[in-house]
Formats: sequence, structure tokens, C-alpha cells
Amino acid sequence: MPETVLDLTLDGPALTAALVDHRSVSGEEKPLADAIEQALRLLPHLTVDRHGNNIVARTHLGRAERVVLAGHIDTVPVAENLPSRLDENGILWGCGTSDMKSGVAVQLRIAATVPEPNRDLTFVFYDNEEVAAHLNGLGHVADAHPDWLTGDFAILLEPSDAQVEGGCQGTLRVHLRTEGERAHSARSWMGSNAIHAAAPILARLAAYEPRRPVIDGLEYREGLNAVGIEGGVATNVIPDACTVVVNYRYAPDRSMEEAEAHVREVFADCGVSEFVVDDHTGGALPGLSHPAAAAFMAAVGGTAQPKFGWTDVSRFSALGVPAVNYGPGNALLAHKRDEHVAVAKITHCEERLREWLTA
Ligand SMILES: [Zn+2]
Repeated sequence: MPETVLDLTLDGPALTAALVDHRSVSGEEKPLADAIEQALRLLPHLTVDRHGNNIVARTHLGRAERVVLAGHIDTVPVAENLPSRLDENGILWGCGTSDMKSGVAVQLRIAATVPEPNRDLTFVFYDNEEVAAHLNGLGHVADAHPDWLTGDFAILLEPSDAQVEGGCQGTLRVHLRTEGERAHSARSWMGSNAIHAAAPILARLAAYEPRRPVIDGLEYREGLNAVGIEGGVATNVIPDACTVVVNYRYAPDRSMEEAEAHVREVFADCGVSEFVVDDHTGGALPGLSHPAAAAFMAAVGGTAQPKFGWTDVSRFSALGVPAVNYGPGNALLAHKRDEHVAVAKITHCEERLREWLTA
């Protein structure tokens, strides 16, 4: 296969199209990672490191602050939406246009065109974001080379419609079990019904009033919901076991320990016989009060929005680096067959970042 050369002198939209046409479904990122590494190595102001298909490029200018610009280079499977197509309304169509090759193009444009930024810069390009968390390239770099990711502030160029989205909520899933005693349903008084025993759990969930805490000026919205229920042995048997699966989405002012303690407390007197944590990932504080973040907000303008879903910003948060999402794509179009991006948003994001980094 001929080597593909990425031309970083292309403008943001054209570079996005080139990246989109360079298909890189999760697990097949190597050729694109090679091309990105090769293009970055031609830039004398950057040192380039590689771990697997993850590329990290850095300036070393001795500036007072270091900012990380990060993005994943993989996409979900192609849905008959390649090659890319630019229409007459300035919309670029194709797999990965929004999520998030337009963001990667902005990273590469800043890397190529801002040789003397006012803050030291770290560019991170990583693989396997769209698949299971243990494969995530950013996680692998964080484990193997945490020093490559140090900084005062990080920006993930994930699709956010050119708005700043701060932090992200945590998510906890627990299985609440109730017990009973089996009996023939013709003689139900001989047993005790575990499904009926789940009633206090459901009542507590239905009456629960979720918090809406304001953190760094952003209002988060929590949620505590049943997302599954299982029970029953046969249609003529009083069931002896029932499980309610509960998902708690919580604001990032709560630690993982506090979140779990809260859910235990909510169901403390509901007759739960077993409380099993099935899955738990912490949230990330928006960090917008950090000076670097505040300067960034002033430069890009607009009002920051809270991020309700879980994103890789929490990986930076775990490393002690406050992080936000800010990218040209639109999250609502991600993973869709008709995925697209407005080229004006790509140019806008690139210009805002360049202004902030050269002011
Ligand atoms: Zn993404």
C-alpha cells in the first residue's frame, strides 16, 4: 500500500476531508497514525513520541503554562458514507466528519501553523475511543507515559458544536436484590414474594428528587433511575428472588465513594438483601476557574455548557488536569449515517484557538 502523506498546509475543511477519506474504523488506525506521525515529524518545533497507534507531539518553549489538545483518530464503522462529499451549502458529509476528524484537523492545523504559541502545547492523537474502555488509547498512554499528558488544562476536540462543554457526570450502576421464599402460587401463603419485596425500591425511585448542583457556573442534572428489573421463576411459582438494576448519573462535585454511599443510603431501609456495584466511572470537574481555562473561555466566547454523558475529559481529570470539550462537530450527528459538519465551524474553532494561543 502506498504511503499516504498528509498535507498540513491544506485549510481546515480540506484537511478534514483528507482525514475522513483516510478511513480509520476502531482497530484499523495504524495507517492514519503513521500518516499523522510522519506529518508531525516534519515540524521542527515539535518533539514526537509514539505508543502503539497513539501519537503525542509537544513544544518545549519553557512557557509558564502547558495546554493539551487531544482527539481520537478512530471512527465507528463506515455506513456507506465514504468518501466525503462537500455540498454547495458548505456542509461536509461522511463518516467521522463530526466525530471527530474535523477536531483532529483543527489540532493538526494548530500544530503546523503556530510554531511559537504563548503556552506550551501538547497534541495527543489516540486510537480506540469508540470501543470498549479498556482498549482506549488515551488510557493506554496515561498508564504507560503519564508524563506525556501533563499540563495545566486540556481541551478535547470532541464534537460540541463549537461550544465549551465543561467536565462530565459520573455513572454508577448497581444491582439491588430482594429475597423471598418459593411456594406454589396456589398456596402463596406458604412463601414470600421477592417481586413484591422490590416495591419499596421502586417507590423510593419514583419519589426521588435528583440534585441540580451548580459547579463553576454550570448547572448539572443528576438522575437515579431503574434501568432494568428481573424476577420470576414460572407462572405458578411465588418468586424467591428479584433484581432491580439502578443507574445513578451524578454531578462531578461527588466523588465515586460519595456517590456509592449516597445510593446505599437511599435504599438503606428498602429491604435490599444484596447491593452489587456492576459498573462505576467517576465524573470530572469542569475546572473553569483555573486561569488557563478562564482565559480560554474569554477567548472563545459564549457560555459553557455542562456535559451530562461520560467522556475522556475524566481521564485527564484523573491525572489532575482540568479538561473541557470544544470541537467543531455536532454530537447529535455523531455515529449517524448522515453524519456531517459545517465547514464554517471548523474554520471558527481553528481561528478561536489560534487567537487564544498567539494573543
Ligand atoms: Zn468522539
